[in-house]
Amino acid sequence: MLLFTPGPTPVPQNVRNAMSDETMHHRTPEFEAIFEKTRKHLFSLFGSDEVVMLSSSGTGAMEASVTNLCHNTLLNVNSGKFGERFGKIAVANGLKNVEIKNEWDTPVSVEDVINAIKNDANIDAIAVQISESAGGLRHPVEAIASAVKAHNPSIMVIADGITAVGVEPIDIRNIDCLLAGSQKALMLPPGLAILGLSNAAIEKIGKGKGYYFNLATEIKAQRQNTTAWTAATTLIIGLLEVLETIEKNGGMTKLYENTQKRAEAINAALQAIGLHIYPQMPAKSMTTVDDADASKIRKILAQKFSVNVAGGQDHLTGKIFRINQMGLIPDYEAAWVVNAVELTLDMLGRRKYDGSANKIFNEILFANRALV
Ligand SMILES: *Cc1c(COP(=O)(O)O)cnc(C)c1O
Repeated sequence: MLLFTPGPTPVPQNVRNAMSDETMHHRTPEFEAIFEKTRKHLFSLFGSDEVVMLSSSGTGAMEASVTNLCHNTLLNVNSGKFGERFGKIAVANGLKNVEIKNEWDTPVSVEDVINAIKNDANIDAIAVQISESAGGLRHPVEAIASAVKAHNPSIMVIADGITAVGVEPIDIRNIDCLLAGSQKALMLPPGLAILGLSNAAIEKIGKGKGYYFNLATEIKAQRQNTTAWTAATTLIIGLLEVLETIEKNGGMTKLYENTQKRAEAINAALQAIGLHIYPQMPAKSMTTVDDADASKIRKILAQKFSVNVAGGQDHLTGKIFRINQMGLIPDYEAAWVVNAVELTLDMLGRRKYDGSANKIFNEILFANRALV
């Protein structure tokens, strides 16, 4: 089965091999050396003043960012399940929240964010997804961050980059906290979350909040190349292998270019055979199609073509399907998926197969590409 869900994503063979060694103790010079190298790679990936690794799924990093960086009222952007989650985290931790809610295909506007913070002087942090995975939507996070900081630089900007870090370059100049998670763009099993922090964020964190997710405790330990609690050693070993693999394959810039090109090619190929891209502003992490036959399409893709793509949740259950674009995806796998979707439409009696999808896909993917 080809795993083409936008998380979890496939783990490359060499990464699985790297994680298959005997368990290493986390309080040893051997592991500290691995931790240090991984940290160096993360500083260059995030571009932030500090990085922190947590043993948790992505939601743990969302909670840590909210509890440590919001001390009063959180403004959260809800254009999908993950944006909604930020609000729930705030409330669960006794904080107040103000929410801007839109349909899942609709990016939040800079204007709505600025109006919200003007209307409530208690808002001291804003949380927004760069790529909202629920509908494959890209929010204009960089523009929001810049406008928020121009209005009030003390408001903390939390950007959930769990399906964006490692997918596209992110301008972090006005972002205080950038989140990533292992099982999405980082091509690892679930269980590791990463935060990139600004110096302003570190100042606001102060002595930190909570216990397990106290970021002050973690920053102190991780600056010494160790962790406050038992490190997710196997996943960190895997992460180092992932980051070294990306480097060997031409580095982040090359990965961003390939992802951008492939996302463009798949979107155009699917539109050429009559499908509709759901979000008004599509994220590069996934291709999201809304279609009355979404459930049938997913079923045929899995049963006849061994392709696993994701469906929708809540009110979009059975109404969308999502094809992953994250990670080191071989071109031939993407070509197989695009062709399988076209064959599926034929099987559903919707459109006679003529190879259009692959033709468009190849034209876009290989035009102007130096083949070496
Ligand atoms: C997957 C995901 C998360 C975190 O989910 P976990 O299941 O806790 O790893 C958060 N935000 C976005 C945008 C995601 O795609």
